[in-house]
Amino acid sequence: MADSPATDPRLTRLLTKLQLKAPADLLFHYPHRYEDRSRWKDPDEAEGGEIITVRGKIRQARIVYFGKRRLEMTVQIHGGFQGLRVIWYGISFLPKSFADGADIIVHGKIAEHSKKRVLYLAEYELMEAEGENVHLNRITPIYPTVEGLSVRAIRSAVFDLLQTKAAELPEPHPLGGEMLSFREAICAIHFPNTWEELAQARERLVFDEMLRMQVVLKLRKSALERQVKVRAGTRGGAVTAFRAMLPFKLTAGQLKACEDIDADLVKPHPMNRLLQGDVGSGKTVVAVHALLRCLERGENGAFLAPTETLAEQHWFRLKKWLEPLQIQVLLYTKSSKPDLSGNDLFQGIGTLFVGTHALLVEKVKLPKLGMGVIDEQHKFGVMQRAALQMKGDRPDILVMTATPIPRTLCLSAYGDLDVSILDEMPAGRGELRTVIRGEEALEGIWEFIRREIQSGRQAYIVFPLIDESERKDLKSLDIAFAELKKRFGADRVAMMHGRLNTDQKEAVMKGFRTGEIPILATTTVIEVGVDVPNATVMLIENAERFGLAQLHQLRGRVGRGAHRSFCILLERGRTEESLRRLQVMERTLNGFDIAEEDLKIRGPGDLLGTEQSGLPPLKLGRLPEDFEMLMRARQAAGRLLESDPVLATCPGIRQEIAGMKLLDVPVSN
Ligand code: ADP
Ligand code: MG
Repeated sequence: MADSPATDPRLTRLLTKLQLKAPADLLFHYPHRYEDRSRWKDPDEAEGGEIITVRGKIRQARIVYFGKRRLEMTVQIHGGFQGLRVIWYGISFLPKSFADGADIIVHGKIAEHSKKRVLYLAEYELMEAEGENVHLNRITPIYPTVEGLSVRAIRSAVFDLLQTKAAELPEPHPLGGEMLSFREAICAIHFPNTWEELAQARERLVFDEMLRMQVVLKLRKSALERQVKVRAGTRGGAVTAFRAMLPFKLTAGQLKACEDIDADLVKPHPMNRLLQGDVGSGKTVVAVHALLRCLERGENGAFLAPTETLAEQHWFRLKKWLEPLQIQVLLYTKSSKPDLSGNDLFQGIGTLFVGTHALLVEKVKLPKLGMGVIDEQHKFGVMQRAALQMKGDRPDILVMTATPIPRTLCLSAYGDLDVSILDEMPAGRGELRTVIRGEEALEGIWEFIRREIQSGRQAYIVFPLIDESERKDLKSLDIAFAELKKRFGADRVAMMHGRLNTDQKEAVMKGFRTGEIPILATTTVIEVGVDVPNATVMLIENAERFGLAQLHQLRGRVGRGAHRSFCILLERGRTEESLRRLQVMERTLNGFDIAEEDLKIRGPGDLLGTEQSGLPPLKLGRLPEDFEMLMRARQAAGRLLESDPVLATCPGIRQEIAGMKLLDVPVSN
């Protein structure tokens, strides 16, 4: 243990296992929970369902088969007569270290098993003679770990590292105020003396995380605003003609968003706007408005969608709308690659490139690109936004998302964008009802779908394919598809999934769009954007396997026309938790409410794909719980950058964000 951190082979191995580079990184490998090992609970006093931690000696550990293999042992509690029965599922061999008499700490849930009280093991730790003061008799940190690495080893390493390194930890910035110093906070987040000290440590470290994030966002935004965009003169007319052509009036939200965009487009720096609107709120029309403004001034535009299906659908719709206005609409995807350089010869107003990621490939040149629109932004990352920006000379950027982003998150992950919101649905939509049903209701559901189809409507049946490259998953889809064909007739059901090629997809979508095929069995590839107003039923298989935000996206495919629509969430294998989640869907149609719920249940990662945001990660901070801290950090970041725009007083922060992609835009001249 006396070895210096850098040369200790055990430490090197541990760092490799945890995928950390330098010993100091270990200080930021935070515990995910703590156990108070200065006071033990008597398992006899624990209530059923309670999660407890107890210490004792192993007696009779063995593997038992009862359908499933499991490990069973008795743990003799110190000072007690009664042994506690411990059951560990998910292990099929007896670890050598589980010898009789071994000193063990077990952590898990107390429950009844065949009328006897047991503890279902979740985590354990074998005690060794040394290091009592590190592992016992204190609030003890429990670390996330990986196969083959004990929590105990991590704890020892962190403890040693703190002894040698803590004193050297500098304050990353002078804004800590009354809070613990950075050094104190790092020590206490690992080995707190009291629960209160732990809370203070957390507060300080969350503040630092949020501060870094907000500094990055503010720097990004000001970098964008420093750019000067040369605005060409406008040829006018296209927007007016387009509006006159639409068979409906724009909603107030759409009008406001168009105004926001028009105001952006006369500013000296490029537009960088996020358009948020629930599924079906009519974002495409707003995007077209923006793109036409760009074409009017003699430049070309790009419209990016996350999947080929969606790109093709947009292309199809935009062609119909824009070709009459002398605008060329080109589709560019992996499977459709026209020569874009030849479009110089085009005689009309301009060209709109519609496509997928394929458009962003480096060798694809988009001549005279003046604006890029990214649909379903949450499926893309900051890098892709940057790539699009690089395709032109400081093009205007509009990103759109149908995953309503709670305000809390908006300020964090998208704090560098201006925001417009479509908060109402276009008039004339039929009612949409959502119901949860179990397997026993299936016959009735088929009958219901049959009746809807007889009266001319259409239905989606959605399957939860986790991984489209998984054979097993595809096979289960095949089986389900065959059953549907048998039930409804082979020519009445089509199947859609990500592995079809573009022609096949287009054929399927065309059949469904025209109503020729009344039932579409599909994976979540139709999650985004597909628009068939005549579809009135969506049956979602194994609904419990989807996230709420995703269910909401899927559900947005129905209820688009004037007819009354239904979304049936078919649940197989109900738990209280899954039911509670799905009931949110029954209760509300409001995407923002659902997003807030999802956020509470699953954390922000899933909702935003935070790893794609290109921002410093939140390791301790949680949203929305730490929203207040976010606001505090945001203000602090604002004040800081005003008085010290180059971060001279904060070498720590400057260093940490130095390698980060701050400017997702080419440096302005
Ligand atoms: P999303 O916001 O989900 O992308 P879309 O742009 O696909 O929504 O619009 C959904 C449907 O609503 C489309 O069929 C579109 O033509 C229609 N729509 C858009 N705006 C209006 C409006 N103001 N009034 C009536 N229908 C509209
Ligand atoms: Mg859309």
